[in-house]
Amino acid sequence: TIGMLCMDWAGDICGACTTSGLAFKMRGRVGDSPVIGAGLYVDNEVGGATATGLGEEVIRTVGSFLIVELMRQGMSPQQACEEGVRRIMAKNRGRTDFQIGFIALNKQGQTGAYCIHPGFSYRLYNGEGHRNIPSETYLKS
Ligand code: ASP
Repeated sequence: TIGMLCMDWAGDICGACTTSGLAFKMRGRVGDSPVIGAGLYVDNEVGGATATGLGEEVIRTVGSFLIVELMRQGMSPQQACEEGVRRIMAKNRGRTDFQIGFIALNKQGQTGAYCIHPGFSYRLYNGEGHRNIPSETYLKS
């Protein structure tokens, strides 16, 4: 998945995501990317979040919506992404054979990212140039 979250000069937020479709997927499978609230969610009063990885697990937690709601309750984008991944790991009790990654942006322009396995990063452009930011991970390498 490629997920994008943007804020314009007026502070309005939007987002988009694509999907790789997941390798070896079942015919007719619908992943999280086209499901609003799962692969992508934006509330212009709070912020936005988008996901990559095993879509079934993101759908089960309505992951992007969850992260936006956690930000609404006061969490930073980083804290909210971490809690989103923790919820998924708690439901999977020790299963680690899949990847999930979330990025989030709040109304203050703060960003965060968190994933299960190392190797996931996001690109930040804030008008002063591009930066590649490695995601924090749930499982350390
Ligand atoms: N989240 C996508 C899906 O489950 C896979 C991806 O990361 O592209 O369909």
